[in-house]
Amino acid sequence: MREKGSILNATLFYFCFDYSVKYRNIVDSQYYNLPLSFNTEFPFENTKSFSDNNLYMQFSELNIIQPILKAIEEEGYTTPTPIQEQAIPLVLAGNDLMGCAQTGTGKTAAFSIPIIQLLSENKDFKGKRKIRALIVTPTRELAIQIGDSLKAYGRHAGLASTVIFGGVNQNKQTGVLQQGVDILVATPGRLLDLMMQGFISIRDVEIFVLDEADRMLDMGFIHDVNKLIKALPDKRQNLFFSATMAPEILKLAGTILQDPVRVEVTPVSSTAEIIKQSLYFVDKGNKNALLVDVLNEQPATSVLVFTRTKHGADKVVKHLAKHNIKADAIHGNKSQNNRQRALSNFKDKTIRVLVATDIAARGIDVEEMELVINFELPNISETYVHRIGRTGRAGNKGTAISFCDYEEKAYLKDIEKLIHQSIPVIEEHPYPMEVFVIEKKEQRGARPPREQRNGGAKPRPTIEQKQAAAKNKGKKTWFGKRDRY
Ligand code: AMP
Repeated sequence: MREKGSILNATLFYFCFDYSVKYRNIVDSQYYNLPLSFNTEFPFENTKSFSDNNLYMQFSELNIIQPILKAIEEEGYTTPTPIQEQAIPLVLAGNDLMGCAQTGTGKTAAFSIPIIQLLSENKDFKGKRKIRALIVTPTRELAIQIGDSLKAYGRHAGLASTVIFGGVNQNKQTGVLQQGVDILVATPGRLLDLMMQGFISIRDVEIFVLDEADRMLDMGFIHDVNKLIKALPDKRQNLFFSATMAPEILKLAGTILQDPVRVEVTPVSSTAEIIKQSLYFVDKGNKNALLVDVLNEQPATSVLVFTRTKHGADKVVKHLAKHNIKADAIHGNKSQNNRQRALSNFKDKTIRVLVATDIAARGIDVEEMELVINFELPNISETYVHRIGRTGRAGNKGTAISFCDYEEKAYLKDIEKLIHQSIPVIEEHPYPMEVFVIEKKEQRGARPPREQRNGGAKPRPTIEQKQAAAKNKGKKTWFGKRDRY
């Protein structure tokens, strides 16, 4: 078991080193007060530690090759972030890595840079390029962002990379794959799908990255991930990233990593210092009206509103439109093009408000988000911390406002327990809470069989039918031949 002292040193180091201006994390230091208590549960033996950090590290001190240094400079980065400083040398040295960090910490570069370097040091292969690095991430938005980062940091390295995700026609993706790529970024569903159709082989993967493992589990991808792991070659380097390290995450990590080094980013400031939080008690039926009021009052030009459901997000957008507030929704039912359009309209401030569900919001990387509104409180307290962390980034001051109806009071209690503080309540507003009963949920009957849904959807094809269809198209399949991969 790794010594506690070394973690403590690392922790103290990050409290001294003030990255707080540019890399303020979303997180409450209490929430992320992982190092000592958490580490006692860390299941890996022989875990190596890091300690010799110096305070003014430059990218050039991390043994990064010239073509990548040049690209980093072109990106305008001057110094590595803590996760980059820790992870890059360890990955370059060939270690498996367990990274406790989330979006906003610079973790994408922390794994992308050493991957590009390792692959480009050994790229004189004859014939078609093989997938030698595979990065699996839960959402399309994250996949696209990682793909963009790889292109940016690797622009002088002579490697080919591509991104695949579901919800769009596969032809363009398979076209690029057939030309051969060195690095593949993928969401799990589309990856397995294209593997089954014979477009992708992951037999030659040398480096495997599982990004945002906690989200992956939240989104129900555990079976897909397990299938992928079985299809990977045994000899490989593994990099595992997660913002939280719940027992099931550690269990999954244990099935992937071998003798890993653990790195983590310990946040410098607490949510309370970075983000101004407030709370309105309001009835469910008045939330839309209150939202309009709040938006008219608040000067913020970029506002992210969270709803629990996709349908709820659309309803909020419609309501705001009626009040001349430009908004768009981003959630899983929207096509990829729609989402991208909404995101770019939001980034260039054509629209002021983006309404999102938690899963869709995960990949939004907008640094100057000024205000986050929890239209509904999340039932998982950590989600609150993730949500409000979308503001107060990159040194900006952030504001987080939450609406809480009577039914959500229990969620509020959990959240306040987690963040170790009471969220200040705005008492004076036009829609004070009047409903103090919990509405009975409508009883829903059992879901009809697939054939009877949507006016008679086709039954799911059997494996034999899928095989026959693939054969007709002249594609190889991997059904029943798992050992090939
Ligand atoms: P990530 O946590 O990977 O999503 O990165 C968050 C943001 O930080 C992205 O917009 C990156 O472009 C940016 N970034 C990553 N590394 C650095 C760095 N060393 N210096 C400045 N910005 C960075």
